[in-house]
Amino acid sequence: MSSHNSFATTVKSGLLMGLFESSPDGVYFKDGNGAWLAANPRGLEVFHLQKVDYQGKTDIELAAFAHPIYRHAFLNCHISDELAWQAKEWSRIEELMMLPEGGSKSFDVIKIPLFNEDGSRLGLMVIARDVTERKNSENDLNKRSAMLDALITSDGMLHSESWKKVASDVLGLLGSASGFSRVSLFKNAIDATHQPCATNLYCWNASDVPVFPKQHATLHYAEIGCSRWAKDLLNGNPIFGQSHAFPEKERAFLDEIGTKTLILIPVAEGDQAWGFIALERCDAAMEISSHELGAFVAAGRAFGMAIQREGSAVRLRQAIIAFDSAAEGMVITDADMRVVAVNRGFTNITGYTETEVLGHVSYEVDPEHMSAEHYREVTSALEREGRWRGELENQRKNGEHFSELVTFTAVKDGEGKTVNYVGVFSDNSETKQVQNTLHEMVNHDALTNLPNRRLLNELTGHALKRAEREKTSVAMLFIDLDRFKVINDTLGHPVGDKLLIEVSERLNNVMRDSDTVARLGGDEFVVMMDSLRDVEDASRVAKKIVSSLQQEFVIDGKDIFIGASVGISVFPGDGNDVEDLLKAADIAMYQVKSEGKNSYRFYSPDLSDNAVERFQMETELRRAIERKQFKVYYQPQVSLATGRIVGTEALVRWQHPKLGIVSPAKFIPLAEETGLVVQIGEWVLREAARQIVAWEAEGHELQSMSVNISGVQVQRSNFADTVYGILVETGCDPAKLELEITESVVMHNTEYVISVFGRIKEPGVKLAIDDFGTGYSSLSYLKRLPLDKLKIDQSFVRELTFDDDDKAIANAVIALARSLGLKVIAEGVETIEQADMLTEMGCDDAQGYLFGKAVEAHEFAQMLMNDAKRDRYKVKEETQSV
Ligand code: C2E
Ligand code: MG
Ligand code: MG
Repeated sequence: MSSHNSFATTVKSGLLMGLFESSPDGVYFKDGNGAWLAANPRGLEVFHLQKVDYQGKTDIELAAFAHPIYRHAFLNCHISDELAWQAKEWSRIEELMMLPEGGSKSFDVIKIPLFNEDGSRLGLMVIARDVTERKNSENDLNKRSAMLDALITSDGMLHSESWKKVASDVLGLLGSASGFSRVSLFKNAIDATHQPCATNLYCWNASDVPVFPKQHATLHYAEIGCSRWAKDLLNGNPIFGQSHAFPEKERAFLDEIGTKTLILIPVAEGDQAWGFIALERCDAAMEISSHELGAFVAAGRAFGMAIQREGSAVRLRQAIIAFDSAAEGMVITDADMRVVAVNRGFTNITGYTETEVLGHVSYEVDPEHMSAEHYREVTSALEREGRWRGELENQRKNGEHFSELVTFTAVKDGEGKTVNYVGVFSDNSETKQVQNTLHEMVNHDALTNLPNRRLLNELTGHALKRAEREKTSVAMLFIDLDRFKVINDTLGHPVGDKLLIEVSERLNNVMRDSDTVARLGGDEFVVMMDSLRDVEDASRVAKKIVSSLQQEFVIDGKDIFIGASVGISVFPGDGNDVEDLLKAADIAMYQVKSEGKNSYRFYSPDLSDNAVERFQMETELRRAIERKQFKVYYQPQVSLATGRIVGTEALVRWQHPKLGIVSPAKFIPLAEETGLVVQIGEWVLREAARQIVAWEAEGHELQSMSVNISGVQVQRSNFADTVYGILVETGCDPAKLELEITESVVMHNTEYVISVFGRIKEPGVKLAIDDFGTGYSSLSYLKRLPLDKLKIDQSFVRELTFDDDDKAIANAVIALARSLGLKVIAEGVETIEQADMLTEMGCDDAQGYLFGKAVEAHEFAQMLMNDAKRDRYKVKEETQSV
């Protein structure tokens, strides 16, 4: 005991005492049994023991006086004291102590055991230095260097591979290095209601936190009360903080998804906002240091650069496809106007191949081919406005002159220096010629250059008068080609046109010079035989016509077989004027058709009755309207981003009393031929408009109702007024109505069509091109039409997943739509693979059996209900699992 006292006396005495009392370290003296002898003020403060009579008590005993959280620390002390005793020399350990107010402190602890001469334990001196701050900055440094490592590795990964392949790994790297629980990459999008949203493309989560909630795979900012985020992110500003510091609505959302700390880092593709990286801590609300934020911003930039690099490669590929598939001639030159590339259209129009013109000064801007004044005009316009548009005379390789409409655009680099010129031109010579021969046009058919109905009427009028005078006859041969429509539809209009030209040539060849061959339109021709002495001459000519048109035609290397049905009427007898004669010949021709085609016959009055048979279908169709045998079916259109039904297409069905349900593919062509499609189409339009209003009243929201419009409707009726009328009558929101027309409608009577749709669009009605890719739309027409959407034809979708050509076409259509600012929908989507690929390509919406066939209105309403329900249940499931 005396030795204890002397040790205590020693330590309490003299200078040492001052040092002991004022030391910033905790200093403790314990006796050989572990009882506390003395502790300095700092030492007591560490354990909050200032007011406790601690002397003579052991660690275990003192634990009872201290805050419960220190109990653990006392126990630890007890153990490490014992270790120090056993080591028999001074030792140094690091101890972590939890604090009652939260957090922890680190101590660097030195323990010095003192022994009596006989080796028994004398006392223990403990010095504890608070190294929390140093520890923290060390940790910080470690964290920083881990982040730096992660950044460098991510950057390397993003630059060596397609970013899509490594995105998940990179997010994981960032998350593990920073201690965040979930890291996702979101891409900006626009949702069905035209509001900004973002889609979760890639996501990483630490093993102890749930995955990012599926029902928020698309973040609809407005719906979740976070519209501010969209604005800030689009402006390139990060969003970060602890969830409790966010505004109420945003906080509610963060609580819902279980986030305590959030960082959103914008990702930009070049100077365009692309999306953002979301980093979440689900375990704790933590301060975010500026260097942490800086590191994430750098990661965002690395992503942005990888995306931009790959995006420009894809766009380049798509541009190449668009460049090559355009019907217009395109030429790209360097800054000195020397050709560096031309497309196929260029070769088709000029006859020159790329190798023949590479390196030459482009013809359109070659001073050798234009007056000095003209040249100055072109070059100064290019300099001033970066663009020149005008008409030029050019020469084909074969020497033929033609006129072209050219647009030249200067392409500048980042510093505003012109690096390329791009010229786009179309062969304008046909139009030119037509303009020059206005007179010809009035009386002749532009395609075949044969007299048209107008000239035929005039010539026949003269012929009839002469025949009356000279007591001769006039015969009218009405010729209708067999199978022409099929060929036109399957091989395309250009082939159909070429065929018509050849037919007109053959007809001219079998005619006498005095006869007139006219084209009435479509595939209908008329031969008028003047001053006929013997009516049998007419049948001889008819026979020749039939056999001549029976011979094969070779168009574009393809063998094509058609045939002709010829009906003959004769003056006098079958009629006294042109109109009656034509009608009689027409009826005779239909009789030939109904008897098996490819033949001829004369008109006889009994034929009129038989002709009625031919019109039977027509009559039935007409009656079908009155008898309400038509029904509109509705097929869902689904957003690929959300999988939700966003629209529907109205598809008409004929419920025939005997035949059952007749497909529109069967009766629409007849309805078009007879003009009945005007009435049917109007009925469908009214019905569809009425239906969307009715659904809305029942609480079903749809963004669009697509209705198919036949070219005949646009051409024949005052279509714009019809549409206006129906909108007013039904109260349908014009913005919900979308009209689908095919490319052929656009190519036919283009100016008129453009003006009609210009009017229809005024109140907000939408316009889509159906079956896009099957026709021959010219880019310039597409640009002039007030379009909203392209519908990729199902023929390309069908083979999409295994035919590279179809894939390229789909890609090019999507790229084209993007460049024109249009939406894209794919039709005929039947498999998940097709839908996935289309989503990947950036297609907006899809329609097809995968999502549902066309069904009756009440079934469609059920579909909408299930769609909404499915979503609700999904939300429920998700929140339960979280
Ligand atoms: P469309 O406008 O291209 O319509 C798409 C057609 O593809 C519809 O045939 C639809 O039922 C079918 N379809 C949809 N998804 C798939 C799929 O996944 N696989 C396959 N194989 N087919 C699918 P539908 O109803 O027989 O209509 C045929 C065509 O008739 C329409 O082609 C449209 O051009 C025309 N049509 C339909 N209703 C009207 C109308 O009211 N007016 C006019 N003028 N034409 C109409
Ligand atoms: Mg359609
Ligand atoms: Mg279609």
